[in-house]
Amino acid sequence: MDAAAPFAIVANDLRERFIKLLDSLSTVRALTSLDVHHQDEVSLLDSALKVLVQHQNLERCSAFLLKGDTLVCVAGKNYLTSFQERERDEVSGTTSLPDAARLGEGLIGLAAKTKELQNCMDCSNDPRLPPVGDGAVEMRGSLMCAPMMNGDEVLGVITLSHDEPDFFQDWHRYVLVVFCNILGHMLANSRTMRHLEEMVEQRTRQLGNALAEAERLKRQFEELSVTDELTRLHNRRFFYSQAEAALSNCIRHQQPYCVMLLDIDFFKKINDTYGHAAGDMTLVGLAKALQQRLRGGDLLARYGGEEFVLALPMTPLEGAMTVAARIREHVNKLEWKTDAQTFRITVSIGIAEADAHERSRSAQVLEDLLKQADEALYYSKENGRDQANVYSHLPRSQQTATGD
Ligand code: GH3
Ligand code: MG
Ligand code: MG
Repeated sequence: MDAAAPFAIVANDLRERFIKLLDSLSTVRALTSLDVHHQDEVSLLDSALKVLVQHQNLERCSAFLLKGDTLVCVAGKNYLTSFQERERDEVSGTTSLPDAARLGEGLIGLAAKTKELQNCMDCSNDPRLPPVGDGAVEMRGSLMCAPMMNGDEVLGVITLSHDEPDFFQDWHRYVLVVFCNILGHMLANSRTMRHLEEMVEQRTRQLGNALAEAERLKRQFEELSVTDELTRLHNRRFFYSQAEAALSNCIRHQQPYCVMLLDIDFFKKINDTYGHAAGDMTLVGLAKALQQRLRGGDLLARYGGEEFVLALPMTPLEGAMTVAARIREHVNKLEWKTDAQTFRITVSIGIAEADAHERSRSAQVLEDLLKQADEALYYSKENGRDQANVYSHLPRSQQTATGD
């Protein structure tokens, strides 16, 4: 039995080492299965410390992050309470780890500066620890501080402490070093991930802004390409596409369709007498006045310098003539004021009506209608201005627009 005793001791020792090895492996396993992506780095450190105290049967530990040249305590765990480090200190009243330490200061600062584990067997008698200030609780027991590294970069320090001196054994040191290496990489990954997420978010925002700006410019361009800058009416190009579509619809349904060209009389004289700005003002005002007299479906555009075009779908000739008369009546009443003077204008109008039995392409019909309206307008000018004429009512000799 005596002879068997040493074997029993060795077997027991081996058994204990085996259990500690299993503990260490389970610590590492629990650490690596923590969720890095869905928690901030303080929560990650907090969870990591919980793993450490639970699997290693330790009393307490804490985590410091390096910010500038200062290590700041961001998380702490106590095996019994799982409180934050400062609260735990109040509970046990045994250690007085600082909230922060400068690089190189005390064991925590030294671990970060030297990038090596600092092991203190007895805190009550260690020159590496700073002197205890007035009113502070004197430190005692064991303390280990290990740097958390990512490659050569120090990210922070993990501390383990226990009330008993000489508490930590070799395997505690090995586990802590491995633990800190893994945790350092996890922390760095988490930062990289967060940085990437921020970059993706920022790029997405920039892309969104660029798309919105492109959309705005596109709309602005589209608007500019169909709008006359001075009067804000549609321009001639836009008028053609709209008027042609409406005409095609009227031809299909055998509905009447009229076109009207309107030109300001002696406009050159207005420019010459009152200035170009007064001329511009007149064009803008007349555009507004015409716009106010539109009915739904009517199409108005600036046709050229002081010339406007009006398409009246579903409107028979009599209706168009009434519209022209009302426009002339209204325009004749308008007074235009410059700084010093007041003046009036008159307009000449030419009207053309589409043939209800028209069979040609709508583009060709529109072109013919515009030519006819232009001839009727010319006739109005030649006949003394300030009047409206209909192409089909002109003397036969004047009806040359479509060669008939
Ligand atoms: P008519 O009665 O025969 O139409 O004579 P008119 O003077 O109105 O016609 P004319 O074609 O001789 O002159 C048109 C004038 O319109 C000349 C041009 O300078 C002016 N005009 C064209 N566009 C603009 C513009 O955007 N602003 C101003 N202020 N004037 C313009
Ligand atoms: Mg004119
Ligand atoms: Mg003109």
